[in-house]
Amino acid sequence: MKFLEKIELNSLTLGELEKFMISLSEKSYRAKQLFTYIHKNYGTNIQDISVFSIALRDKLEDCSRINQIEILKRFNSKIDNTKKYLFILEDNNIIESVVMEYKHGLTACISTQVGCKMGCSFCASTKEGFIRNLSPSEMVNQIYNMEKDLKKKISNIVLMGSGEPLDNYENTLKFLNIIHHKSGHNISYRNISLSTCGIVPKIYELADEGIPITLSISLHSPFDDVRKKIMPIGNKYTISEIIQACKYYYNQTNRRITIEYTLIEGVNDRNKDLEELIYVLNELNCHINLIPLNPIEEYNQQRPSGRYVERFKIGLEKTRIPVTIRREMGSDIGASCGQLRRSYTKDRDRNTFQ
Ligand code: SAH
Repeated sequence: MKFLEKIELNSLTLGELEKFMISLSEKSYRAKQLFTYIHKNYGTNIQDISVFSIALRDKLEDCSRINQIEILKRFNSKIDNTKKYLFILEDNNIIESVVMEYKHGLTACISTQVGCKMGCSFCASTKEGFIRNLSPSEMVNQIYNMEKDLKKKISNIVLMGSGEPLDNYENTLKFLNIIHHKSGHNISYRNISLSTCGIVPKIYELADEGIPITLSISLHSPFDDVRKKIMPIGNKYTISEIIQACKYYYNQTNRRITIEYTLIEGVNDRNKDLEELIYVLNELNCHINLIPLNPIEEYNQQRPSGRYVERFKIGLEKTRIPVTIRREMGSDIGASCGQLRRSYTKDRDRNTFQ
C-alpha cells in the first residue's frame, strides 16, 4: 500500500490552512493560531503549540508536518557585511541565499528553484541544469533561518537567487501570500521584487493577481538575435512581446518596472546597443539597473571596464530613464548567483568520487 505524504503545513496559505482544519473537524480559527505560530514566531514543532490540546497536536502530527531547512555554511563579507548562506534541504539538495545590509534595512535575496532550466549562458545557477522547484516553505524558511541566525528582521526581499520564479509560479505566489500576510511576517508587497528572464504569459497572470510587487526583467540586450544567443528564452518570446507585457503590468499595478541589464564586453555594451535600448524602452515607465558581468568559468566573456560602464550609464541618463549601477555586494565571498552552490556541489562530487 502506498502511504499518502504528510501535508506540509508551512507551505499552506492561511486560506488553505483553514480548509485543512475544517477537514479535520476543527474550528477554522485554529488555522490562524497555527499560521502565527509558524510564520510569526518561527515555530517548527507541532508538539510545542501550547494553545492546542495534546489530542489536536497528535492528530496534526499524524497527517502533517513542518518542513525545515538547515544552514550548511555562512560566508561573511569583510567588505560590506553581506552574508551568504548555503542551506541544506530535507532531501539533501543545496540552495543559496544572500543578505545585504542597506541604510533602509536588510534585503534578502532568495532562491526559488534548485538549479534552473533557463540556460542563460552567463549564469552559474543553470550550469548543472534543473533539479526541482522549491516549495513555499523552503522559500520562507530561507528568510526565517537568516533572521534567526542574524537576530535581525529582514525588511526587503528579492527573488533573484537561483531559479526562475515564474517557472515555479504557483509556489512563488503562495510564498508571496504567506510572507506578506499580517498574521505572519507581514512584509509589504512594495518591499518585494521578482526577477524574471521574461516568461510572457506568466507576466500577464502576475499582473492580474493584484499584488503590487516590483517586477524586474532580465533584458540584457535590446536585439532579439543577440538575446537569443545568451538567453534561450529569447527563442520563445520576443523583446517586443516582453515590453508589451511590462506595459500591461505597469497599467495593472502602477509599479514601475526594473530592467536588469548585465553588461558583457563586446556583446551588449556597444553604442548601437545603447541606442537600441533607449529606443526599445522609450514608452515604458522603467528604471534600469546595470550589472557589470560577474565572469564565471563556463562563460568566456568579461565585463567592460568601469569607465565604459559609466559611459553606458551617462548615455542612458541623457534620456528620461533613471539608471543605477548595481553595487557589488560581498564580492570577496563568491560573486554572482549560483556560484556558491556550484562550487560547493563540485567539491562534494569530487570528494565522493575520490
Ligand atoms: N531567473 C531570474 C533570476 C536570475 S538572477 C531572472 O532571470 O531574472 C538575477 C539577475 O542576475 C538576472 O538579471 C540574471 O540575468 C543576472 N545574472 C546571472 N548571472 C550573472 C552573472 N554571472 N553576472 C551578472 N549578472 C548575472
